[in-house]
Amino acid sequence: MPREISFLNTLTRRHERFRTLEEGHARIYTCGPTVYNYVHIGNLRTFLFEDVLRRTLQAFGYRVTQVMNLTDIDDKTIRGAAEEGISLREFTDRYAAAFFEDIDTLGVERAEHYPRATEYVPQMVELVQRLRERGHAYDSDGSVYFRIATFPGYGKLSGIDPEAVKIGARVDSDEYQRDDARDFVLWKASRPGEPSWDAELGAGRPGWHLECSAMGMALLGESFDIHTGAVDNIFPHHENEIAQSEGATGVPFVHTWLHSEHLVVEGQKMAKSLGNFFTLRDLLEREHDPLAIRYLLVSVPYRQKLNFTFDGLHAATAAVERFANTRRRLVHTPAATGEGELSGEAVEERREEFDAALADDLNTARGLGVLHTLMTQVNQALDGAGIAGPVTAQLEQVLDHAHAVLGVVPPPAAASDLEAEVAGLIAERNAARKARDFARADTIRDGLAARGIVLEDTPHGTVWHRKG
Ligand SMILES: [Zn+2]
Repeated sequence: MPREISFLNTLTRRHERFRTLEEGHARIYTCGPTVYNYVHIGNLRTFLFEDVLRRTLQAFGYRVTQVMNLTDIDDKTIRGAAEEGISLREFTDRYAAAFFEDIDTLGVERAEHYPRATEYVPQMVELVQRLRERGHAYDSDGSVYFRIATFPGYGKLSGIDPEAVKIGARVDSDEYQRDDARDFVLWKASRPGEPSWDAELGAGRPGWHLECSAMGMALLGESFDIHTGAVDNIFPHHENEIAQSEGATGVPFVHTWLHSEHLVVEGQKMAKSLGNFFTLRDLLEREHDPLAIRYLLVSVPYRQKLNFTFDGLHAATAAVERFANTRRRLVHTPAATGEGELSGEAVEERREEFDAALADDLNTARGLGVLHTLMTQVNQALDGAGIAGPVTAQLEQVLDHAHAVLGVVPPPAAASDLEAEVAGLIAERNAARKARDFARADTIRDGLAARGIVLEDTPHGTVWHRKG
């Protein structure tokens, strides 16, 4: 039995205990990138929230099947390919590859499926046909539209009043003729110079909203557990997905909807014109550590606005250094001879608190707080009477578990050349001190300090860490 977890469901606006449709199997659809440029840190915040979601469910004992689509056919990808005079596939392949490179850099676990919209056109056509048969769709000038007036549940996710939309702006920006300004396009009539598919519906291409419904249902079934995205996907994208899917099947499309809040930079909306627009590549060029970027982007619970600042990034860098130093110190310090200063019960308590934080709608801030408390306890114990062998082993397990969930507490790398060298120098220094050759011992210590490596003499021997 998986551990209990609860989420704030956008659809019901309530905290709910999560239940899967199939015992122990969580089926998740995550709206993926439109592969026409490099993803920015706002997009990455959403992808990292989804990564923490899948990692938490797995750590809690669920089997996860996650789908993330790649939107490779829409106005932006078509325009980009045309501007460069290359095929749509060549253009989108480049940005799909860049996307995978970026998420790998940030340690995002791969989803089970990354369907490309262009590979699911037959399923999209079939979905439109079902909607036509059930009276939810109509044709106009070679395009097919969804008639919102035929779906009484329209607005249930976003809380918008469909009647109010009528007066307001158009629901999407496509320039097509439709009966009602609220209606949205399912299938777009082919236009000169644009890729199109010959379907029974007439030559054309799928609308963006249709893509996600068709791929979600093709890979996860007509009803599944979780659908995620950023808050700006709620309306109209996800509202339209629900209308299309439930209009065609008559069964609930998705049970739990989760949406991550916006990211702002130094308190301002991110915009190229303000010079505060960052891709991951921009930050790596400035030599920021991917692990610190990851830490910062997961440190704020996904339902809260995240203010990305460079002060925050420096603090995140210090935090991941602290985690790494403590883990290294733990590994390199000999076990206490007696009971030591940290009890197994205390470690178990921290683990329980960590899990409880994540089980509460993925409260990552609280989870990280628990880890910092644990690190303080570890360092205090190592400064004092030390930690007994079995407790160290238990700690390693807890930290591995936390790393499996948040991806920011990696175990020390296997002994590197540097570590072997430092270990050799520490041994040489100890021998020098034993021989009362303090000048030689100090030379070794100062030499290491000049390289940013600090030695610490504890009652259990000499350990080292990077200055941070
Ligand atoms: Zn989508």
